[in-house]
Amino acid sequence: MDSFTCDMCGKVLLAEENTRYIVKIEVFAAYDPLEITRQDLAGDHEAEMARLLAQMRSMSTEKLEDQVYRSFRFDLCPGCQEKYLAQPLPGKSG
Ligand SMILES: [Zn+2]
Repeated sequence: MDSFTCDMCGKVLLAEENTRYIVKIEVFAAYDPLEITRQDLAGDHEAEMARLLAQMRSMSTEKLEDQVYRSFRFDLCPGCQEKYLAQPLPGKSG
């Protein structure tokens, strides 16, 4: 059987605690199709595509992927789940 450890405090989960929490974070570029205007549709797509492709070629694959999609998954013990929920975004208290 897999053993899980808390990604925040390192405690072995399910051995010391009955509950484990999973945090899943997805970070991706938001794209809202409603923001496309007539002006966008009338624009020069070929020039824009060429510009974007040139920009993409100059980036490393890793960096490019970071810009498109990143996901994180953490296992937390109940104590750290509480701490995490109190401040899901580092540096932002709320
Ligand atoms: Zn913990």
